Amino acid sequence: MSQAVSQAPNQTRHFPGGEEIIRCTGVNKWYGEFHVLKNVNLTVQKGERIVVCGPSGSGKSTMIRCLNRLEEHQKGTIVIDGIELTNNLKNIELVRREVGMVFQHFNLFPHLTVLENCTLAPIWVRKKPKAEAEEMAMNYLKRVRIAEQAHKYPGQLSGGQQQRVAIARSLCMNPKIMLFDEPTSALDPEMVKEVLDVMIGLAEDGMTMLCVTHEMGFAKSVADRVIFMDRGEIVEQDTPEEFFSNPKSERTRLFLSQIL
Ligand code: ADP
Ligand code: MG
Repeated sequence: MSQAVSQAPNQTRHFPGGEEIIRCTGVNKWYGEFHVLKNVNLTVQKGERIVVCGPSGSGKSTMIRCLNRLEEHQKGTIVIDGIELTNNLKNIELVRREVGMVFQHFNLFPHLTVLENCTLAPIWVRKKPKAEAEEMAMNYLKRVRIAEQAHKYPGQLSGGQQQRVAIARSLCMNPKIMLFDEPTSALDPEMVKEVLDVMIGLAEDGMTMLCVTHEMGFAKSVADRVIFMDRGEIVEQDTPEEFFSNPKSERTRLFLSQIL
C-alpha cells in the first residue's frame, strides 16, 4: 500500500469529446438471490486509466469480469467499443479480442514455456505463423523485461516475473483495453514495484486500463479516475486528487481511513 511508484506520468488529464470505449448503463447482476451489482453506470474513454477500489466482496471483480463476459449481467447494457454484450456469441468473441485480462494468480499454463504461453493464442486463435508470433512475443517479453527467461517454465520464475509474463501474454493479443484484477495482491512486497512499473509503462503508451487494486500510490500517480465500490454499487468516482483529499461519502471516508 505504501509502495513507492517510480514516476508520476501525469497530472489530471481531460478527455473532452474523447472517444468512448466502454459504456455500462443500469447494469445489474445476481448470483442466485444475491444482488451483486446494483445499477452500475460507467463510461470510459479511450486511453483513460481507471482504478477501482472498495472493500472485499463489494463486487469489483464481478464488475470487471462482466466487461469481457467472464460473468454475465442480467439487466442493463454493456457496450464495448460499439459492441453490445448479450448472449450473441459472435459479439462475445469480438469483445474478447479487444479486452485483455490479468488476474491475481497469473493463470499461466504450467506445462508451457514462457514463450509458448505467449504464442499459444496468437498461433491457434489468430492463426499467426509461428515465427511471427514468436517475434511479437519476444518483443513484448523484452518490454516487460523478461526476454531472457523465455525458455523457462512458469514454475521456475518468481511471482513478479510470472505476472509480467501474464501481462506480456495479454499484450500479444493486441487488446484495446486491459483489465487488471488485483495484479499485485498475491506478490511478495519486493515484487510489487516491478509489476506496477510495467503497468505504468502501458499507461504511458496510452492503453485504456481498468485496474482493481489497493495500491493507492499507483492510483494517485497513474489513474485519471478512481472508482469506489461498496455493496455492489459505485458509490463515488472522481479524480484521484478529489477522491483522496475530499471524499464525498461516509463509506468512502471509512474505507480510506482503513487502508491509508
Ligand atoms: P470483490 O472483487 O470486490 O472482492 P467479488 O466481485 O469477488 O467482490 O464478489 C462480490 C460478492 O459476490 C461477494 O459477496 C462474493 O462472495 C459473491 N460472489 C462472487 N462470485 C460468486 C459466485 N460465483 N457465486 C456466488 N457468489 C459469488
Ligand atoms: Mg476481487
